Amino acid sequence: MNANTITGKALATKNRLYLFDDPRWEERFEVLIRLTQRTQLIQELTGTDATGERIKSYIDKRMADIGGEIQRPRGVGQRYTSKGFLSKTIEKYEASYLLNLHFGALGPGPSAAVETNLGAALDRRMAVYLRYRADMYDRDEEPRISFETYITMLDAIKNHAMPIHNCKNCSSRYLWTTGTAAHYSCPVCSIHSHDVKAAKKKLDALMSQRRKTTDTPAVKKVANG
Ligand SMILES: [Zn+2]
Repeated sequence: MNANTITGKALATKNRLYLFDDPRWEERFEVLIRLTQRTQLIQELTGTDATGERIKSYIDKRMADIGGEIQRPRGVGQRYTSKGFLSKTIEKYEASYLLNLHFGALGPGPSAAVETNLGAALDRRMAVYLRYRADMYDRDEEPRISFETYITMLDAIKNHAMPIHNCKNCSSRYLWTTGTAAHYSCPVCSIHSHDVKAAKKKLDALMSQRRKTTDTPAVKKVANG
């Protein structure tokens, strides 16, 4: 395997159509810029030696070609230490979904921690994220958890800044973010029990309505008798 397949090395000479030396990196880039247009993150994930300016101009050109929207984020992005990071139960629920997709049945063991091949690591991240998006959202919907947030979440796990809990009840893996309630509970169980409760309530209301209508003649009978 040559070095170019491990990191996204840019073409030595500027090319109007391509940014990367290796067509496989070109393909990854095509998918990646639909998930994030943050140049710093693209550099980090591809390990490319292309400058931010060069990446930006390629994104602009590609988006113009396909009629896509340029959404260049400003600033450093959300950090996992910030108070709002995955603070809502529904966000924790979806984060848990991503976590379980990402780590699979074995969880983040020692083998999962070592990802030396940037290409393989990026392929996995993009595949997991696209799967999450396809499973939970319609085509035109904006997922609650952005690709960037997912990457930030993985960084937090790698840096041991956010412990992963295993639910004894449903065996989901979930994170408990800093800044949210000290006492944690499984977001998957919590959302599901909420759904079950809501469904039961609806059913109860329906049943009592039905009971009322069927009860009426009986009451009349008693009253007449
Ligand atoms: Zn659970």
